[in-house]
Amino acid sequence: MNKPIPLHTIPIASADVGTCAESSVIRERGQREVFCGLTGIIWLHRKIQDAFFLVVGSRTCAHLIQSAAGVMIFAEPRFATAIIDDRDLAGLADANEELDRVVNRLLERRPDIKMLFLVGSCPSEVIKLDLSRAAERLTRQFAPRVAVLNYSGSGIETTFTQGEDACLTALVPSLPSLPAAAPAELLIVGTLADIVEDQFLRLFKAMGIDRVAAFPPRRSTTLPAVGPNTRFLLAQPFLGETARALESRGATRIAAPFPLGIEGTTRWLKAAADAWGIDPDDFEKTIASARDRGQQAVERQKSHLVGKTIFFFPDSQLEVPLARFLSRECGMHLAEVGSPYLHKQHLSEELALLPEGTQLSEGQDLERQLDRCRHAQPDMVVCGLGLANPLEAEGIATKWSIELVFSPIQGFDQAADLVELFTRPLRRRTLLQTQSSHPEANV
Ligand code: SF4
Repeated sequence: MNKPIPLHTIPIASADVGTCAESSVIRERGQREVFCGLTGIIWLHRKIQDAFFLVVGSRTCAHLIQSAAGVMIFAEPRFATAIIDDRDLAGLADANEELDRVVNRLLERRPDIKMLFLVGSCPSEVIKLDLSRAAERLTRQFAPRVAVLNYSGSGIETTFTQGEDACLTALVPSLPSLPAAAPAELLIVGTLADIVEDQFLRLFKAMGIDRVAAFPPRRSTTLPAVGPNTRFLLAQPFLGETARALESRGATRIAAPFPLGIEGTTRWLKAAADAWGIDPDDFEKTIASARDRGQQAVERQKSHLVGKTIFFFPDSQLEVPLARFLSRECGMHLAEVGSPYLHKQHLSEELALLPEGTQLSEGQDLERQLDRCRHAQPDMVVCGLGLANPLEAEGIATKWSIELVFSPIQGFDQAADLVELFTRPLRRRTLLQTQSSHPEANV
């Protein structure tokens, strides 16, 4: 491991130190190590089961989504890349014609596709293409059988989970209107695993909130209605633009922490229950058994984490709710909680729950952050795939943040699984250390 750098020599000249719910924030803009928004396709295509994601991009883009989704082999895949960067383009008309040809071939062959997303990327040829006009043109051609939408997953404009935000934002104008006279509806916003979504729908129904929908829906033909009588709960912290688009349709956000861990889940459910005027005793009776079961499972799992120090590199925007859970429910110390973007309003309930003085950082200047990390000597680091191997080689246990986005971790029944996702790297490192200090032992 590199020699730790004393704190006073760490160059933070460009850092703007502000305050946020009693915590200091280092804001950095520099070299960053994070996936682009195309990554969101990997979980979005599983959620909206009749949608297809056509990346308009390069071989690099094709390689990224193929390798990120490499574990899944479908007879009829629901994403692909139209590669347009390595041809001799005579002009934009050629590129548009080529795109139309690809889409025509795809939709002729695949009548099961009801919604097609054209996903923009970085190459200059793609940037020159007007994908929103292409989407309009193709929608006219294929209406009403297929709706064609577009958004950008380009690494220049989006990081990792912002791809989902861009996708859902593009979808909001297609949502039907909820009539002004209709009873209030609750909208859960953000992709959740079906199993988690079902648990939440059951709990809301049991406490007396009947009119609940999820966005994105499982099928593009069941888009939820939205209007002034929509109250929405964000299930993910990275949906700033989606929230803004829903608000522009008259919907109101219910402020809440995110449903990670027992406390987060309880407060998230309670925020909706309060908005619906549910009696506190009825709420308590509804959640008690699931909450207590989850609580006991967390207690059994957390011993490996208590007293350990964790450092978050910015990646998924899940960092603040995860840090809150690990510190308050698992007894971990927070060395630094980095996030690509801190949405003050959407995170205000979370930030208020962090231990006073928690070091937050927003954005990234990779080398400086690595210096701070080495200085802190954490037991575990949460980071992107690119940083994991070098940090492991330096003796630090790592957790890939992408795994936390792919795994069902929200809700009471998943809280212990969430603990387990963090205990595994520590156990593996302990095992490796035992093996290297006692090579004769067959552990
Ligand atoms: Fe494609 Fe740009 Fe993402 Fe690279 S960063 S995979 S070029 S969209």
